[in-house]
Amino acid sequence: MRVLVIGSGAREHAIALAVSGDAGVTALACAPGNAGTAAVAEQLGVEPADPAAVAALAKEWRADLVVIGPEVPLVAGVADAVREAGIACFGPSAAAARIEGSKAFAKDVMSAAGVPTARSEVVDTPARLDAALQRFGPTWVVKDDGLAAGKGVVVTEDIEVARKHALMLLDGGHPVLLESFLDGPEASLFCFVDGRTVVPMLPAQDFKRVGDGGTGPNTGGMGAYAPLPWVSEDLVNDVVARIVQPVVDELDARGCSFSGLLYAGLALTSDGPQVIEFNCRFGDPETQVVLALLRTSLAEVLKATATGRLAELPPLEWSGGAAVTVVIAADGYPGKPRTGDVITGGEIEGVLHAGTRRREDGAVVSSGGRVLSVVGTGKTLKSARKHAYETVERVHLAGSHHRTDIALRAANGEVAAPA
Ligand code: AMP
Repeated sequence: MRVLVIGSGAREHAIALAVSGDAGVTALACAPGNAGTAAVAEQLGVEPADPAAVAALAKEWRADLVVIGPEVPLVAGVADAVREAGIACFGPSAAAARIEGSKAFAKDVMSAAGVPTARSEVVDTPARLDAALQRFGPTWVVKDDGLAAGKGVVVTEDIEVARKHALMLLDGGHPVLLESFLDGPEASLFCFVDGRTVVPMLPAQDFKRVGDGGTGPNTGGMGAYAPLPWVSEDLVNDVVARIVQPVVDELDARGCSFSGLLYAGLALTSDGPQVIEFNCRFGDPETQVVLALLRTSLAEVLKATATGRLAELPPLEWSGGAAVTVVIAADGYPGKPRTGDVITGGEIEGVLHAGTRRREDGAVVSSGGRVLSVVGTGKTLKSARKHAYETVERVHLAGSHHRTDIALRAANGEVAAPA
């Protein structure tokens, strides 16, 4: 099987790395990739969000399976174009990707499917803002209604901070979504979905805020761990039965069946699991830890998903241990990241590349906000954590920063799901 992975983050590096070890894979390419994916896959150039360009590349390279990593190409219809070219594709159609691309659509689907989620209101003019803010908070949750790479959300106790963020979004022409605050630990559940059948992976947790102790602004994610000792298999099955399957069935009934990876972002509240958001693709950085623990051939699962044969697969197999990833971010991230700094240690095992590129003189340099994602595995969360942070110490990037508390509380047994 010839596999083409579209994207250039640590998520795509993790996918490429997992697929590269699969027996049935005869050729692997990444487009546009990064300095890390170059070590495991052929590098091809493409504009990832251009449907015609990706479909043409997949044809020319004779791909048997195209795996689309990021949300922007999916929302733009890249999976549709690849399938129209007669090539199997892992990733939903543009119509199904609206579950992530339009929060209003997601809320409508959830409401029709009877799935628990935060109460919400869309505000599209400043004139309606103040009255709407009065109907929420404290705590206020203010979101960009469109795709914002995890960075459009402000959660605050201060109504002035909420108002300022909403006005900034409205000023930029973005409708604003106000939501009721969901209180409880968060979990990400990735599910393979082939239109009808749902196969959940291990739950994971990511760390959204830039600073230790959950301080500072939201980011695309600063670290993650899996599995979650505080989420039982029964709870996962319950989430699939009461949340994921009803949404999959509702999308199917609307004529936009979901095929690919459906990511449920959950808050485990005292009233039970509630949906914070759905994403239409693997999450970054959780993918790095979940795939580090998967023993089943990833290529086979991706192909079975893309071809509607998930129900025929044996259950997924897992290593039984734990994995932790720590994101190394550039100076200035999540604001204006500095790029062009030289990275050393990027070739060490467990170091996945995100914003990196190889300079003409051969040096690997930073080219984005989240630069590296360092993965450690072990029998326990404690040992996986130790392994990850030991590797972080061996990597160097001038001005970089990372969180020092990824998985710390879980490793000490301090996180518990509400009863
Ligand atoms: P999102 O971009 O929707 O994933 O939101 C990013 C982060 O903001 C989430 O991971 C949560 O930590 C937080 N968040 C979003 N919506 C809510 C909510 N309704 N209640 C509490 N926290 C939220």
